[in-house]
Amino acid sequence: MDHAFSRLSQPRDTVHQIRNVREERPRRDLQLCFISVLLATCFYGFLRWDDFLTHILSGGLLGLIWMQVAYLGHDSGHNNIMISPRFNKLAQILTGNCITGISIACNSLDYDPDLQHLPMLAVSTLFFTNLTSKFYNINLEFYPIARFFISYQHLTYFPVVCVARVNLYLQTFILLLSNRRVPDRALNILGIMIFWTWFPLPVSCLPNWTERVLFVLASFCVCAIQHIQFTLNHFTADVYVGPPKRNNWFEKQTAGTIDIKCPSWMDWFFGGLQFQLEHHLFPRLLRCHLRKVSPIIKDLYKKHNLPYRSLTFVEANKWTL
Ligand SMILES: [Zn+2]
Repeated sequence: MDHAFSRLSQPRDTVHQIRNVREERPRRDLQLCFISVLLATCFYGFLRWDDFLTHILSGGLLGLIWMQVAYLGHDSGHNNIMISPRFNKLAQILTGNCITGISIACNSLDYDPDLQHLPMLAVSTLFFTNLTSKFYNINLEFYPIARFFISYQHLTYFPVVCVARVNLYLQTFILLLSNRRVPDRALNILGIMIFWTWFPLPVSCLPNWTERVLFVLASFCVCAIQHIQFTLNHFTADVYVGPPKRNNWFEKQTAGTIDIKCPSWMDWFFGGLQFQLEHHLFPRLLRCHLRKVSPIIKDLYKKHNLPYRSLTFVEANKWTL
C-alpha cells in the first residue's frame, strides 16, 4: 500500500480511510460452506440423476466451483489465508493444482503470461513485431498462421476463450516438465496427478460420449466467464508491454486496467476481480474490502486528474470486440 501512495502528494487521509476499511475480516467459513454446497449439488446431479439436462447442468456447476476455488487460490497468493505460510502453500496446491488442474507455479513466475495468446489472439499491435516472451522464454514470431487467426479474432474470441482451459492444462504440463526453476515442483506435480485422477471419474460415470463431451464443455464454458472477465479487465484498456517504469507506475495501473461494474450482491461471482484497478494498486487488500475502497480511489483519481475507468460486463465485452 505504501508503495502505491508514495507516488502521490496528498495520501494521508486516503491511507487513513483505507486502514479503517481493512479492519473488517473476510468470512472464509461462508465461502467454504458455499463451495461445499455447490460441490455436493454437482456430484448429486451426475451420480443420482439419470437425465441428460441434469448431467450438463452439473458440468456447468463444476465450472462455477472452479471459479470460486480459483478466487480462494488467488486470495492465498496475495495473503496468508491459513494459520501458517506452510498451510497456505498447501491451500494453494489444493485450490490450484488439485481442484482446478492449473499449477500455481504458473502464477509465481516473474512475468505474466495472461496477455500473450499468439497465434490465436493479440491484445496489442506490438505483438505483430516478433516480441520475445519473458514468460515462455520464446520468440513470439508473427507467423502467417497467427496473421490468419488474428484477422478473425473478433469472431473467434468467445469460442477460443471457452476452450482456453485446454491451453492452461498444457502450459501446466510444459512448465512442470521443463528444466526451468519451479518452486515445489514435486508438490505441484503431485497436485496435478490428483486432479487428473479425480476429474475423469465423474466424466466416466456418464452414460455416453455425447454427454461426456457436453459435460466437459459445459464446465469449460461456465469457467470461461472468469477468463473473459480477466481479459475484459485488460483487453479494453491500453496494453503495455514490458515492466512499468518507476515514475509512471500509478498511471500505468489506470491505463492498463478497467473495473467491471456490478451490483454488490454479485461480488461473490466476480471474486473481487471486478475491482481490477483497486486490486492492482493494493494487491494485498482482501477482496471483501475492495468495494469500500473503490469510492476512495475514485476520489483520489479525480483529485489527481487520472481517468478511472469502469464498465458493465456487457459494455466491456463490446469494447473488447
Ligand atoms: Zn491478483
